[in-house]
Amino acid sequence: MRFAYLCDFDGTVSPSDIGAALAKRFSPDGRAEGAELLARWFRGELGHRELTEAQCGLLSVTAEEALAFTRGFALDPHFAPFVREAESRGDAVMVLSEGLDFYVADQLGRAGLAGVPFAANVARFEGRRVVPEFPYAAEGCGSCGNCKAVHVRRWRERGHATVLVGDGLSDRCGAREADRVLARRDLLAWCRTERIAADPFESFQDVAGITRAWADGRR
Ligand SMILES: [Mg+2]
Ligand SMILES: [Zn+2]
Repeated sequence: MRFAYLCDFDGTVSPSDIGAALAKRFSPDGRAEGAELLARWFRGELGHRELTEAQCGLLSVTAEEALAFTRGFALDPHFAPFVREAESRGDAVMVLSEGLDFYVADQLGRAGLAGVPFAANVARFEGRRVVPEFPYAAEGCGSCGNCKAVHVRRWRERGHATVLVGDGLSDRCGAREADRVLARRDLLAWCRTERIAADPFESFQDVAGITRAWADGRR
């Protein structure tokens, strides 16, 4: 059985939440990442698709400014070695993000990982306006922009054992659906509340160690 490692981006592959930092930096008074909006998401009054629409509606930034800002961040340095090790075993790695495509693609490319497939929401820049598009929303739960459960099911249909790796509440649909979960922060707390089995991790050094043990168990 081959594994598919489906990895969240913001707060997981990138230790910092780049999307949140972008929303904070380029909205008036940081309102796009403000307590009021986030509280509505945490309480479940807003789905992540609606949250992203509300956040993008508050942004004032050009494509060039946005990219220059996000280039101040970098990936977990252990992610690229993990990808190479997993792929050399015949396992698959994909990045699943509720963030925006331009910085996910740029960060992967800069880390030498342009070949790693990813799925994210799409940012269309119109001058200083950011219009989000949700190419994966139609197949999802109706609440997410890019429902991770859809991707988990696809990889399972291709015959993989699915592993969701994530840190936050936007990973919940994927974590419910996946065969195994590696979690940190809010996702780990939520898995414990929901009694979903999850192994804790802090960095991709931990992820590499845990998954190496799984691969050894399969031989
Ligand atoms: Mg995250
Ligand atoms: Zn969902």
